[in-house]
Amino acid sequence: MTSTLAPLEQGAVRIVFLGGLGEIGRNCFCIELEGRILVVDCGLMFPEADMPGVDLVLPDFTFLRDNADRVEGVVLTHAHEDHAGGLAFLLRDVSVPIYGSRLSLALARNRIVEAGMLDRTELIPIDDGEQRRIGPFELEFVPVTHSVPHAFAVAYTTPVGTILHTGDFKLDLSPVDGRTTDLALLGEIARENGGVRLLLSDSTNAERPGFTPSESTVGGAMRGLFREHADKRLIVASFASHLHRVQQVAVAAVAAGRKVAFVGRSMTQNAAISREMGLLDVPDSAVVDIEETPSLAPGEVCVICTGSQGEPMSALSLMAAHEHKWVKVNEDDVVVLSAHAIPGNESNVNRVIDSLHRAGAEVIHEGVAKVHVSGHASQEELKFMLNLIQPEWFVPVHGEYRHMVHHARLASEVGVPPERVTVCEDGDAITLTRDGLDVERKAVPAGYLYVDGIVGDVGHGVLRDRRNLAEEGVVVVIVTVDAESGELVTGPEIVTRGWVYAPEAEELIEDAKSAVRESLADAAGEGATDFDTLRRHARRALGKFINERTRRRPAVIPVVIEV
Ligand SMILES: [Zn+2]
Ligand SMILES: [Zn+2]
Repeated sequence: MTSTLAPLEQGAVRIVFLGGLGEIGRNCFCIELEGRILVVDCGLMFPEADMPGVDLVLPDFTFLRDNADRVEGVVLTHAHEDHAGGLAFLLRDVSVPIYGSRLSLALARNRIVEAGMLDRTELIPIDDGEQRRIGPFELEFVPVTHSVPHAFAVAYTTPVGTILHTGDFKLDLSPVDGRTTDLALLGEIARENGGVRLLLSDSTNAERPGFTPSESTVGGAMRGLFREHADKRLIVASFASHLHRVQQVAVAAVAAGRKVAFVGRSMTQNAAISREMGLLDVPDSAVVDIEETPSLAPGEVCVICTGSQGEPMSALSLMAAHEHKWVKVNEDDVVVLSAHAIPGNESNVNRVIDSLHRAGAEVIHEGVAKVHVSGHASQEELKFMLNLIQPEWFVPVHGEYRHMVHHARLASEVGVPPERVTVCEDGDAITLTRDGLDVERKAVPAGYLYVDGIVGDVGHGVLRDRRNLAEEGVVVVIVTVDAESGELVTGPEIVTRGWVYAPEAEELIEDAKSAVRESLADAAGEGATDFDTLRRHARRALGKFINERTRRRPAVIPVVIEV
């Protein structure tokens, strides 16, 4: 599939969606003006259960690779993995600067450094409310509240009017750091330069009625837990980037006279970065190394750790399995899962909750107490945004298809004419001109890029094979035949994994060998001596036998050796 799009008419703006429209994750779009391209976010997606062996999923970068010389830079709305986790991979293909808040850049930096890609980019910090020209684009960075501090909405001023992208946001009116979504600035943007012609807005919670509660409500729940369980060790798992959550847990712990220990690589890293930046305020006297906690009474300790998504090698999973060096979960523990399972992680989260129970701990999660609130706007906030901005055109972004459909309905409810609302998907391109908005469906390749280990693209074929092997197993049949006559010299030998348990199925395997032997004899009788024909015969005979006797379809691999 080609990734070259028609040249734009003078002043027109094109947006190409590479990910995040139709799934939660791998958010990425490109915005193009006067032949130059800005990439907005570059995230990853966590693999689903039907993607065996896949570590993570990225956007398809074909379009960007093919237009690498026209890419001006990357704009980072915030540093969640679903927005920044693909940057290190993107930098292999394009070497450009990345613009974002100081915190976003600091959080994104680690992965880029680990991948050895830091010299392929320049990290350019942006302040709240800053206006900046990047190539032909005029950008304005608007503070928004979200589940990581210092997130931005971004307004793009272009010859055909203003485009506003909310990024991930909620309207938290009492955020932990006092940095609210800048509604006044958004209002100004909505009024100036003829208003906002196109709004792209976060759809994650478009099905949730009401308002998302303020992050600060979690603080109260935490204080309550510390009071209730004064004699127990408290272990709180949260996203390492959710510094406001970490802050509130730490404040509640310190107020209850406890010491705080950070555990897990990203938690320790992020706590250090954010304490250095003055974004996480925990007194030095209240922080201890995890090695020191065994000498303290359970009621004197609060462990803040990673693993809220049930990741098998995370701090929390190791603690639950008694494989963590310093913390082994027991009856003296109350474990708080202060997060919501991202799609794809539910079964891992259930598993860790179960093993925490097995270890004797009490487990508190969002199903039983208000220990988590979402970082995304619910319906009333989404309508507020639509009312405030009053866009001429609206394209919902960031969500599964159903989230975007519901967001589109909300827009119609608050008076955006339905013909000016377009639900797009990954791979679609939209062009904003003076006359209106054109949509080109499936304009560029936008499939999943599967990453396994350090191999860039595992590919659909490999994944299909893995699924088949996982479900049906494999049977290998090995024969040696005479090159002249085609007659069997040795074998058949049958080796199998995942079809039947061979030591207990001797008879079946003997019958299978006979079936192959017969079919090869038939083939030889018909004068077939060539390698390919014999292989085909062996595969067909064995496949038929397996299907008839066991009603299964394992991969059948014939190996014919000619002597
Ligand atoms: Zn986010
Ligand atoms: Zn997101």
